[in-house]
Amino acid sequence: MQKSKLVLWIGLGFGSLVLLLLAACGGFLFMGLRVASGDGEVARKVDELFREFAAGNFDKTYQSFTSPELRRVTSEAEFSKLGRLIQNRLGALRSKQVTSINIKQVNTIRMINVKYKAFFERGSGTVQVVFVKSLGDWQLNRLYVDSPEFTKDFSTVACPECAALHAEDATFCPKCGKKLNVPVKIE
Ligand SMILES: [Zn+2]
Repeated sequence: MQKSKLVLWIGLGFGSLVLLLLAACGGFLFMGLRVASGDGEVARKVDELFREFAAGNFDKTYQSFTSPELRRVTSEAEFSKLGRLIQNRLGALRSKQVTSINIKQVNTIRMINVKYKAFFERGSGTVQVVFVKSLGDWQLNRLYVDSPEFTKDFSTVACPECAALHAEDATFCPKCGKKLNVPVKIE
């Protein structure tokens, strides 16, 4: 995989655009960090989202977590691709700390924008989510994940059996254990 950004623009019902982005650039600084609590419901949603990603449940996540706005502009395949990248490079979410939180209410629609410093199985990074709540349940409207892990070279080859990313010179797949002969390039 090249050091390219996969960016999907998503329309949101507030007359603005938000994005679902998985950036391949490491290093991301927040200025003036504001730590806040009280994002309980959304925090649990985020934990659940990454738990599903780690378990490979991308289609289920797409159906049950996302807002209609997100689904309108992002296909299930695109969403799954992002989920798979997170699954392969970062693994399960171990813990997270809120670095900023912003809550907006527009008529009956509530929107929450939270940034986390996130610690995953295989590295740390930044997670930003926007959730909207209009019909009782919080729905994912935007997802941003950034980690130095995305730029590492081991990502250039995918296992032909399970699609896990591994070093080009790996003898066995670190995930499914398949003996690797001919590397399969992805993108
Ligand atoms: Zn494999």
